[in-house]
Amino acid sequence: MEKLEDSYRARGLRNILVKEIAKKGIKSERILEAFRKVPRHFFFDPIFIEHAYEDKAFPIGEGQTISQPYTVAFQTELLEIKPGKKILEIGTGSGYQACILLELGAVVYSIEYNEVLYKRTVRFLPKIGYKTNLFYGDGSKGLPDHAPYDGILVTAAAPNVPSELINQLNPNGKLVIPVGGKRIQKMVKVTKIDENRISKKEYDRFSFVPLLGEEGWR
Ligand code: SAM
Repeated sequence: MEKLEDSYRARGLRNILVKEIAKKGIKSERILEAFRKVPRHFFFDPIFIEHAYEDKAFPIGEGQTISQPYTVAFQTELLEIKPGKKILEIGTGSGYQACILLELGAVVYSIEYNEVLYKRTVRFLPKIGYKTNLFYGDGSKGLPDHAPYDGILVTAAAPNVPSELINQLNPNGKLVIPVGGKRIQKMVKVTKIDENRISKKEYDRFSFVPLLGEEGWR
């Protein structure tokens, strides 16, 4: 495939991808519409562009990946985002997931541990028209300076649920985080009911790159 502009052809490929993730169980029309809007091929090196609309994770350099579209949609659906809600993403990576959150009207904060990826994404997102709040550092303990959040989304696999992330949620806030071993994890959704109570739900089964840093895999 030649290098795509956001062309008729790219939009067609996105529509096919959206049908695929809907078939796999994503129900929210708002989320499916966000996937129709964000040109995933912009996040790929031109030589790998033919992979942009496959429902697969793909390397983005530095040993990291852009997540599988279905997984991005699944995590996003669990967050139950409404326009204007404040969401923290831990693991900016390519910035693709942040753009999906922005298309849903969220106010997005995103933190990345890898300096090369952070610098690349901070330059790149404004070039394709997305404005967000990007930070460089260890997000395994959240981003306390800007807390509280209505949702926290972790896009790397943690050994446990860091309690500091729950502390940074508003009442009724959701934390969505893959938890388990370095290869296979469960998706955990924690809802903070109030300062003393949480509810927890788990979903099988996912495979993320490891969360690094103080509360991650060191
Ligand atoms: N959300 C990304 C996207 O849309 O491209 C995909 C993220 S990739 C699966 C996971 C990211 O988490 C990597 O970029 C990795 O460097 C980052 N990461 C790992 N540990 C981290 C930490 N403690 N704080 C912040 N980012 C972290």
